[in-house]
Amino acid sequence: MTVTITHALAVTALLLLSPAAFAQKTYLHCGQLLDVRSGKLLKQQTIVVEKDRITAVQSGYTPAAGPQDKVINLESRTVLPGLIDCHVHVEGETSKDNFLKEFTQNPADVAYQALGYARTTLLAGFTTVRDLGGSGVNVSLRNAINRGQVVGPRIFTAGKAISGTGGHMDPTNGYRLDLMGVPGPAEGVVNGPDQARQAVREQYKRGADVIKIASTGGVLSVAKDGSAPQMTEEEIRAVVETARDLGLVVACHAHGAEGMKRAVRAGVTSIEHGTLMDDETMKLMKQKGTWYVPTITAGKSVADSAKIPNYYPALVTPKALAIGPKLQGTFGRAYKAGVKIAFGTDASVYRHGVNALEFGYMTEAGMPALEAIRSATLSAAELLGQTANLGSLEAGKLADVVAFDGDPLQDISALMRPKFVMKAGVTYRQE
Ligand SMILES: [Zn+2]
Repeated sequence: MTVTITHALAVTALLLLSPAAFAQKTYLHCGQLLDVRSGKLLKQQTIVVEKDRITAVQSGYTPAAGPQDKVINLESRTVLPGLIDCHVHVEGETSKDNFLKEFTQNPADVAYQALGYARTTLLAGFTTVRDLGGSGVNVSLRNAINRGQVVGPRIFTAGKAISGTGGHMDPTNGYRLDLMGVPGPAEGVVNGPDQARQAVREQYKRGADVIKIASTGGVLSVAKDGSAPQMTEEEIRAVVETARDLGLVVACHAHGAEGMKRAVRAGVTSIEHGTLMDDETMKLMKQKGTWYVPTITAGKSVADSAKIPNYYPALVTPKALAIGPKLQGTFGRAYKAGVKIAFGTDASVYRHGVNALEFGYMTEAGMPALEAIRSATLSAAELLGQTANLGSLEAGKLADVVAFDGDPLQDISALMRPKFVMKAGVTYRQE
């Protein structure tokens, strides 16, 4: 009985306390605020944050209403919505011994490493990322971040990516025969539409938010070809239809045009890299509303690393040299052709935390700074299906806020140096 009474009292006390606790507000005084919709830099604005959401954006500096409220002074800064990278791999990072690591690291090693990459990414101003493939540690990391147990960006993850036997996502490429085994749908390796459906359902069951496939070869897999088709249109269609039933979109890695066209016709949501994209593919993507996630930074990085002797396995080096340098040009053509573009970098192929390099490469290739910023905010939120929560500084959205010195519309490199990072109302960086 005593226990029950105590419990009842505790509940009453909580109810009495809660209105005051919930009323606590944080006021961000912003010297300049970029309205990503209008493209205007608004002077002297206040973002009002309650718990994890923005409740108002007001003109002028609103003072704190009471002692329970907090003011954060960003009066010398330019404030933007939290940045979104639609293509990262949070589990790993480029290094000369990456291939060897597949045989030496346990999942727990991968997880501890990933913690550092996740923290670095968030502190770089990227409050949300889409993880397009790893071992499954990425799903656990997403959950730990969501529970507030570790620090990192909000993650939407593909779990383990999918392709055909010997394809870009076959986890045993380059292994000795007796170590190769016969990986199947559970390992993300499919042959035929039935296995494609099974592989999608496997990833759904394990907690994926998005499905990632590779319809062509890729640079870093230890396999000869980096651009020819590696899935049939029938297999891709089976992936897309199964994913759609489960409420998941499909991101498709592709370098060669034939594999891209199959994927676009089959209805994938985004083409990743898109290196050898031809005019016909661009036209098809515009017709179907397919997103393009360019990852120029990865292209430049693999081309640079390939010049270091023995950095990559022998089969990888020529692919890196052939594919890497072409991405920026493709991006420029796709942008001019009017293909929808969402920001993505393939962080892990280069070191985590310098994701904002991509902005510089995008503007260098002809995209105005405002458009590049929109690709990492409004457009990225649209690709993620998160327009109600992410992508702009507006009442009702999650309080993901970043701030920089200077005006990124004039000097996009300002985005390399975040001074303030807030995710869901919690401050992680303040200088
Ligand atoms: Zn990737």
